[in-house]
Amino acid sequence: MTDPTALDAADPLAAYRDQFLATDVVSYLDGNSLGRPLKATAELMDEFIREQWAGRLIRGWTDEWWEWPITLGDRLGSIALGAANGQVVIADSTTVLFYKLARAAVDARPHRRKILIDQDNFPTDRYVLEGIAAERGLELVWITTDPVAGIEPAQVADVIDDDVALVSFSHVAYRSGWLADVAAINEIAHAAGALTLWDLSHSVGAVPIELDEWGVDLAVGCTYKYLNGGPGSPAFAYVRDDLLAELRQPIQGWIGHRASFEMGPGYEPAKGARGLLSGTPPILAMVPLHANLDMLESAGIAAVRQKSQRLSAYALELADEWLVPLGVAIASPRDPARRGGHVTLQKPGFDTLLERLWERGVLPDYRRPDGLRIGPAPLSTSFTELHTGMSLVRDLLSRAD
Ligand SMILES: *Cc1c(COP(=O)(O)O)cnc(C)c1O
Repeated sequence: MTDPTALDAADPLAAYRDQFLATDVVSYLDGNSLGRPLKATAELMDEFIREQWAGRLIRGWTDEWWEWPITLGDRLGSIALGAANGQVVIADSTTVLFYKLARAAVDARPHRRKILIDQDNFPTDRYVLEGIAAERGLELVWITTDPVAGIEPAQVADVIDDDVALVSFSHVAYRSGWLADVAAINEIAHAAGALTLWDLSHSVGAVPIELDEWGVDLAVGCTYKYLNGGPGSPAFAYVRDDLLAELRQPIQGWIGHRASFEMGPGYEPAKGARGLLSGTPPILAMVPLHANLDMLESAGIAAVRQKSQRLSAYALELADEWLVPLGVAIASPRDPARRGGHVTLQKPGFDTLLERLWERGVLPDYRRPDGLRIGPAPLSTSFTELHTGMSLVRDLLSRAD
C-alpha cells in the first residue's frame, strides 16, 4: 500500500491546506458537500462588514455591489467554467436558477412536448422538472442509468426525437461520481434540435469545465461545495451568449429589469446575463467567493484535477485493501477519466456507522440507502487525512463484524 506521507511529500498543492480553517478536524471527507472556509474568507468577511457595509452603507451598491453578480460571474467563468465574459451570473440558489433556465428553455421550444432526464439525477433537478412538466403540460422521459456509473451518450441517442425540448443531466453524478461526456451528449441533443441544461454542482472547482467549447446551452451549479463559498452561498447560471436574447426567464423581478431604478410600468428584461437576475443579489454571501476564486486561479484547475484524481484513486486503493474484504462494494467508476472528485462505498448498515465516525472527527457523508460518500477536496485534504479517515472506517467495520 502506498504510504500517505510520501504522497503528501510529492503533492505540489500540499501547502494550500494551511490556507484553510478547520484543519484540526481528524479527517474531513465531505468537501463535495460543504467546503471548508479559507482563513482569507474570515478576514474578508470582517473587512467587508467593517469597511464596505459599515463604511459605505447604501453607497456600496453604486461603488461596486451592483456589478458583483456579473463581474464575479465572469471571473468564475474564466477560472473554472471555460466561459467567455457576459454569460455567467451569480445569484439565487441552484434550485431557483435551475428552475429559471429550465422554464426559459422549454418556453423557447414551444411545440416540443418532452424533457429528458435520468432517474438518478439529483433530487432537486428531478423535482423542479416535474413541476415544470406539470405547469406546461410536458412529458418527462426518464432514462435509467447504471447506479455505479451514469448517463451514456448512447442512452440519450436511443430516446431523443424532435419532440424533445430539453435534455438535462448532472456533469458529475452526486451518488456514483460518474463524469458525463458533456460534449457528446450536447451533439446528440443539438442534432435533434433540443437544448441542454447541465448541473455542475458536483464538478465545479474539482473537474475542468469547458462550457463554450463543449457547446453547452445552459448550466447551473453551486458555490458551497468545491468552491468553499459557505453554507447556502449563492449559485451561478450560464447561458450561451447567442441564447441570451432568445431565452426569457420566468421570475421577472426589478433587478433583472432593463432600468431597475426607473421603477416604471411593465417588465422589460435587461440585456445579456443581467436579465437572469430577479431580486436583490445576496452580496454578503458572495464575499467568500472572492477569496476562493483567487485560490483556485493560483492553483490552476488542471493541477486541482490531477490531485483530485490521485485522492480518489487512493481512496479506492485503501477501500480495495481494507474494506472490500469486509463486505464493502465500490459504487463508483474505476476509470479515472470517467470519475469526478468523490467515490461512493456501499454496505448495508453504513447509516449507523456514520454517527460513530462523526463522533471521532471523521466526516464523510451518507447517502441513502447504504452509500458512504468519500469526497476529499483537493485543495484542503491531505493524503494522510484521507488515510486516517479510511482506517477508522476499517476499524469500526471490523469491530462490528
Ligand atoms: C448540491 C447540489 C444542488 C443543490 O441545490 P441547492 O439549491 O443549493 O440546494 C443541486 N444540484 C446538484 C447536482 C447538487 O449536487
